[in-house]
Amino acid sequence: MTVGIVVVSHSRALADAAVALAGEMVAGGAVPLEVAAGLDDGGFGTDAVAISEAVAGADQGDGVVVLMDLGSAVLSAELALELVDDEVRERAVLCPAPLVEGLVVAAVSAAGGASRAEVAAEAADALLAKQGHLGAAPEEAGPGRATTGAEETASFTVGMPHGLHARPAAALVQALRGLDADVRLRNVTVDGPEVSGASLSRVATLGALQGHEIAVRAHGGDAAEAVRRLLALAGDDFGESAAVAAPAPAVTGRPVPASPGIGIGPVRAGGATGVVVPAPVPGDQRRRLDEARAGVRDHLQAVRDRAAREIGAAEAAIFDAQVLLLDDPEVVADVVARLEAGTDAARAWADALDDVADRLAGAADEYLRARAADVRDVRDQVLRALGGVAPDDTAGDGVLVADDLTPAEAAVLDPARTPAVVLAGSSPTAHAAILLRARGVPAVVGVGAALAARAREAGVLAVDGSTGEVVADPDAATLADFRARADALTRHRDEAARRAHEPAVTRDGTTVLVGVNVGSPADARAGVGADLAGLVRTEFGFLDRHEAPSVDEQEAAYRAIGKALDGRRMTLRTLDVGGDKPLDYLPMPAEANPFLGVRGIRLALARPQLLADQLQAIVRVTHDHPVDVMFPMVADVDELAAARRALDEAVDAVGRGRPADLRVGIMVEVPAAALKAAAFAPDVDFFSIGTNDLTQYTLAAERGNDAVAALADALDPGVLALIAATAQGAGDDVLVAVCGELAGDEQAAALLLGLGVRELSVAPGSVATVKQAVRDVDLARARELATAALACPDAAAVRALLA
Ligand code: PEP
Ligand code: MG
Repeated sequence: MTVGIVVVSHSRALADAAVALAGEMVAGGAVPLEVAAGLDDGGFGTDAVAISEAVAGADQGDGVVVLMDLGSAVLSAELALELVDDEVRERAVLCPAPLVEGLVVAAVSAAGGASRAEVAAEAADALLAKQGHLGAAPEEAGPGRATTGAEETASFTVGMPHGLHARPAAALVQALRGLDADVRLRNVTVDGPEVSGASLSRVATLGALQGHEIAVRAHGGDAAEAVRRLLALAGDDFGESAAVAAPAPAVTGRPVPASPGIGIGPVRAGGATGVVVPAPVPGDQRRRLDEARAGVRDHLQAVRDRAAREIGAAEAAIFDAQVLLLDDPEVVADVVARLEAGTDAARAWADALDDVADRLAGAADEYLRARAADVRDVRDQVLRALGGVAPDDTAGDGVLVADDLTPAEAAVLDPARTPAVVLAGSSPTAHAAILLRARGVPAVVGVGAALAARAREAGVLAVDGSTGEVVADPDAATLADFRARADALTRHRDEAARRAHEPAVTRDGTTVLVGVNVGSPADARAGVGADLAGLVRTEFGFLDRHEAPSVDEQEAAYRAIGKALDGRRMTLRTLDVGGDKPLDYLPMPAEANPFLGVRGIRLALARPQLLADQLQAIVRVTHDHPVDVMFPMVADVDELAAARRALDEAVDAVGRGRPADLRVGIMVEVPAAALKAAAFAPDVDFFSIGTNDLTQYTLAAERGNDAVAALADALDPGVLALIAATAQGAGDDVLVAVCGELAGDEQAAALLLGLGVRELSVAPGSVATVKQAVRDVDLARARELATAALACPDAAAVRALLA
């Protein structure tokens, strides 16, 4: 939805300045905006014909909101509507909003995808903040909200089962960032104290459980906007329905393999070992602290990016909470006060964070109490950066047995000292499991409380993260068996690594390209032996920023990845955000089902400037490096046609002709696209199947939601049938690739090739082993395997077939 805006003013200069001001609020300039202002001779006045042309020009099918300054501007606008086509007139709204305030609000809400009625309503309300601030009589501002004098007040009821815990608290703090508003929150239900909405640590201590009423008070120029955002967030359960389900306390008692590999070692019972506060080090304490925090921030953001790549941005948001804590104004103010009182950096940081953790540990809700561990994790990371060490450097060795692991704990686990992890709860798609896989730590999850308790009492554990076996105090024969498996695995990985640079050729002589999925030059370098980068997730250049990267910045980022690939082709996927991966600077209306909403290509087409900029950066790079452009989440041939037009325009804008090495493809993530592959085929060079999304849409099982994790299996015959349909629709001229997680499953390689796939793009650590798996494939037998798999009733049967 992209509603256009027309600015009608007596003065061209006034209109241009107002448009420039609004442009400051809307990064990317994505809203179609036309100006009809002043007379041809430069004088003051309005012209109905010019206005009618502006209205027609701004209407892209979703309507136009017309904002006018005074007097005859309104009459001219009314007349102008008589001059446009009936269709356009029906979609046009003459809005009584004040020009400057109204334009700013209208531009922001139109950029957020609001309808024309919503844009007009928002604009008409644009004076509320000013009225509230100056004490003018406010208008009724909607349910649950009242404007009193210079203050905005409201209340909401917490709807989430785990209350306002770290992730929703982080969403709340982030929503208020950048606003000129001092927001105070109070838990009315427990009659608690007021806390600052800018402080994650304070918000988390509200102890706000499900059903609690939270009172909101806001002051400042953006107070009304702050309250509006808060109520919208609360109405959407702070995005929790889109985020991963909170860790399920239930333990299944059925061991589930979660990260392949063999681990044998002494038992190490779970629980974080706190870092000892290092002795004072002379020097500028503020600087030492800031440098330590900066290092931890970089680390957390890298972990966050990795988690976002492997599981999705919504789930990676837990690390945002840690970054927010690192920069929490109240925490920092507390630490600075301690520094000024003469305490050294490490002690000041440790004491301030201990205070926050203690407050959380005293919360009534068990889930909130558990978040104290996250705070201690941040405390320890900064202390480590300041020279602190764990109390006993050898105490952390061994097979870790715990009820569950936070992502933060998984992220800081030392693989060299942790042969394996066994968890009573969790699931293979949980944050921690994904991170453990990424770090190569074998893991078995969901073993249940009883087995976990027995494991804790054992001296030694033998763990097979591929089969889910956990053996307590293994006898000599079992130990020998596990060691033999470990040796075989090591030999296999060594052999694969040795041959990583050789092409992956099946036994019958078919070459299969094995690519690497990357988000950064470091990933590209880590994918040793990859034939190409089959998926560059460009969205990582757009996250964690306050505005979209410029064309130059994007060009530099893609060139850096190209350089790391040293001439190998790269598949640049255009921006895949929206819905579940929101951007601060692209305000989006809340969606009940973000995975079914405005994401991927839908968002890019709704923000033409954003897409145009990115495509220009891509085209510039393609003149020097072979590039595949790939559009995500395509469902409809019209979307592909529009995206291709945008690409052609970018080629024209760059002005160096069409790069010879430019190829175009789409991701197949929507079941309809798989079934309509033949309709797309004439207009693409390749299809790349995103099995992560294709699986969630095929089985109606949200990715990352532990509660439906068992359903969301990419080996489900329904998903396989869609892969087969894609290959069939592709015909002989269109390459079919898979870049979802399934491509990295060595066991699935033969099946995918049997279904017609000829390129696999995988996480950096899997390139060599997947190449090795391809070398074992005989295509004729792989086709038989595929036929058998398609006839299976469920994923378990397919898995049995592959084993
Ligand atoms: C996919 O959906 O399989 C895919 C590769 O895209 P992403 O995981 O980035 O959504
Ligand atoms: Mg996807």
